[in-house]
Amino acid sequence: MDGTPALAVKNLRKTFGGITAVDGTSFAVEAGKMTGLIGPNGAGKSTTFNLITGFNRPDSGQVLLNGDDITGKQPYEIADRGLVRTFQIARELEEMTVLENMMLGPQHQSGESLWRAVTPGVRSSVKRDEEKVLERVWEMLDFFDIAHLAEEYAGNLSGGQRKLLELARALMTDPDILLLDEPFAGVNPSLENRLLEHVHELREQGYTFLLVEHDIDLIMENCSRVLVLHQGKLLADGEPAEIKADERVIEAYLGG
Ligand code: ADP
Ligand code: MG
Repeated sequence: MDGTPALAVKNLRKTFGGITAVDGTSFAVEAGKMTGLIGPNGAGKSTTFNLITGFNRPDSGQVLLNGDDITGKQPYEIADRGLVRTFQIARELEEMTVLENMMLGPQHQSGESLWRAVTPGVRSSVKRDEEKVLERVWEMLDFFDIAHLAEEYAGNLSGGQRKLLELARALMTDPDILLLDEPFAGVNPSLENRLLEHVHELREQGYTFLLVEHDIDLIMENCSRVLVLHQGKLLADGEPAEIKADERVIEAYLGG
């Protein structure tokens, strides 16, 4: 450990027309920890995720992954370097099985098949890679206890099973850092606990998490560090106990 954060953003800024979604935000995420990102609706949380993962390009500022500048790179390049986000299962992927969903690369999780994208000339090496991919698929399905659902259509899964699949799929490339945008939305409490157990187990294995979640108590109980965004700016950054006692945070949430 040399103290370089797993992820850092510096003076990140993004406007949409007249709206400033992210307004000069800077923060760092420590490796191997679970960091929470909270803030009222419209605070810029999702936009921040999009800027980090390459789905939006910042107007200015930098994104550093293990100290390397990845600002403006494509989502698949960023995934290759070990940073991924979860995706809700797109409508067209509901008609594919769990297994087929798992076979899609992170850049294709909105629809396009990984194998169709490969040119014929390199198919033989892909054939060998396919075995490795399948091995990883079953490893992840086992880890999340959804191997028995491999042949099930994604559209037939319960809300909680979908969330497990979304996490399993994001882990296919064996990333170092996972960004989760409301991974527990619509999940019942017992499944939420199961998902959380999996996340903590992964964190203990060394994965780094940045988590956006509406449920403040969940963030406070499960994260060692909390970042608070308000109107596109970082309002507070600290341990849960500090954040809970921070007057500015309380005010921002009460509509200040
Ligand atoms: P959060 O996830 O914290 O609720 P967002 O990042 O989704 O906040 O949004 C921050 C602000 O940016 C909001 O005012 C939102 O309306 C605006 N915004 C986000 N994405 C776009 C977009 N693609 N086009 C226009 N405005 C957007
Ligand atoms: Mg959002």
